[in-house]
Amino acid sequence: MQSQIDPSPSLPVNMPIAGHVDPVPVPREVTPREDGRVDLIGLPKKQIASLFETAGLDAKAAKLRAKQVFHWLYHRGVTEFEAMTDIAKTMRPWLAERFVIGRPEIVEAQVSTDGTRKWLLRTADKHDFEMVFIPDADRGTLCVSSQVGCTLNCRFCHTGTMRLVRNLTPGEIVGQVMLARDALGEWPKSASDTRLATMAGLDDEEDESAYSSDGRLLTNIVMMGMGEPLYNFDNVRDALKLVMDGDGLALSKRRITLSTSGVVPMMERCGEEIGVNLAVSLHAVTKDVRDEIVPINRKYGIDELLQACADYPGASNARRITFEYVMLKDKNDSDEDARELVRLIRQYKLPAKVNLIPFNPWPGAPYECSSPERIKSFANIVFEAGISAPVRTPRGRDIDAACGQLKTAAEKKSRAELDRLAEEKMAALD
Ligand code: SAH
Ligand code: SF4
Repeated sequence: MQSQIDPSPSLPVNMPIAGHVDPVPVPREVTPREDGRVDLIGLPKKQIASLFETAGLDAKAAKLRAKQVFHWLYHRGVTEFEAMTDIAKTMRPWLAERFVIGRPEIVEAQVSTDGTRKWLLRTADKHDFEMVFIPDADRGTLCVSSQVGCTLNCRFCHTGTMRLVRNLTPGEIVGQVMLARDALGEWPKSASDTRLATMAGLDDEEDESAYSSDGRLLTNIVMMGMGEPLYNFDNVRDALKLVMDGDGLALSKRRITLSTSGVVPMMERCGEEIGVNLAVSLHAVTKDVRDEIVPINRKYGIDELLQACADYPGASNARRITFEYVMLKDKNDSDEDARELVRLIRQYKLPAKVNLIPFNPWPGAPYECSSPERIKSFANIVFEAGISAPVRTPRGRDIDAACGQLKTAAEKKSRAELDRLAEEKMAALD
């Protein structure tokens, strides 16, 4: 049975749901909210205006109200119409009777000894997913989920052992950023705060210091939580547009990175329609190893993937593509692998940096992390070839918040069931 989502009539009824390797549009039942109201979070300003018009305002008033409401929702972060002080007192209950301002429900919030925070969130139709905030000295990165579970089955990833439950809606994706701002207390409180934030966010060519100097904790977003964002392309794009909108959350596209396991056919559209930084989960340099650990490689091989990276709109030496490479003991971590990685990056003339990720263990994982000496030797070979190759420090391991550890308790399955699922998924890729 299809899971049911929030009832906004404006959400497409045919939502793209990932198949094993390509998005397959399937009909999705949309159940109206019991109270008949429509959630405004996740909708573009134009759609809010047309809803206001349908509800009885004339076109001009609808446009003006939509502009005001949009500002209150995304810029000031209010959660009640009553707080919208420049909207007439009589209008506020009119709005509240017809619309709601949704946020995912917080089920649990955890804090790691290193300051990393993880939230277990729940959709209105009771599916659990996770979001992580990683504070650093000079930045704060929010790791956002795009799906509940994942259809892909990368062998080293805990999320990959979950079934795909469903795609998150634009509201549930942008709602994560809004919840993080709530939790960090980062909504502008006064008109002058608002002006400052707008100035910092509106300008694409902003210099780095302008943004961080306004003292924000949340400065960067990575689409690296649960799920494969390019298998939920439309919803991820619509959500990120709200995040980047200068009248909205106003984060620069330069501070947003989308990570894909290699959904080649969607990469060009990602660059053109979203325009954010790209990270690619490469993890191996030979067909055999990548087929095993990142099974989507059976559909879109390394050459096709690297060509799509070379063609990625907007990539340049100033905006490099990040290649993520998880360090798995005796699997993909030899000096020869490192040299082949350098050769491939050169062959495709890629403006690249390499992120080496020590493998984060989880119960029943079939791999171990490479030794620190091995990681160092691998990193040196890449670095000496003139390619930046930092080793990522694992964050939030004690609360299972590190890369690849996200998995909601409700989805825990027996080892036998996991193996059966893995085989099913592999068979579908052949
Ligand atoms: N589905 C997307 C984004 C989510 S995963 C993707 O695959 O790119 C974010 C990153 O964490 C990916 O590079 C992923 O390969 C990596 N990762 C997954 N499991 C991991 C683990 N156990 N240890 C270290 N990194 C892991
Ligand atoms: Fe899905 Fe990414 Fe995990 Fe692979 S690494 S299973 S694509 S979340």
